[in-house]
Amino acid sequence: MKRMGVIYEYHLDAPLDENHPTKPGHYLGFCEFGRLAERDRIHHKGQRWEHMFDGKLKHTGAARFLAVAVERNIGFQLVRAWRGTRDDERRLKKWKNGRALCPICNSRPKAVEFMDEIGLDMALAEKRRR
Ligand SMILES: [Zn+2]
Repeated sequence: MKRMGVIYEYHLDAPLDENHPTKPGHYLGFCEFGRLAERDRIHHKGQRWEHMFDGKLKHTGAARFLAVAVERNIGFQLVRAWRGTRDDERRLKKWKNGRALCPICNSRPKAVEFMDEIGLDMALAEKRRR
């Protein structure tokens, strides 16, 4: 069974993707339960993080998008979170409709049937034990 974690979405205050110059940016990411608060701080500093994958330490470039937002002084905020796996994250990213999922951009954001949505308070709760 694949490890469950938190899939999270950020809404950016301004466009970032040159392919969509008129639309606010969105970013989807994944992390372990209890790690999102730390991840959020790292994203806002424009840093990347390290993680273990198949027993090896890896640097992920996935946060490059948010690091560029920090460089350009574009604000961003967490808007939604779900309980799911990395596969769920990939599946969600393939939709390429972060905007449709976003409650800031939509009064009725798109529902995701294959994952349980969790509140941001729960998503941001620090891990108490491993
Ligand atoms: Zn949005």
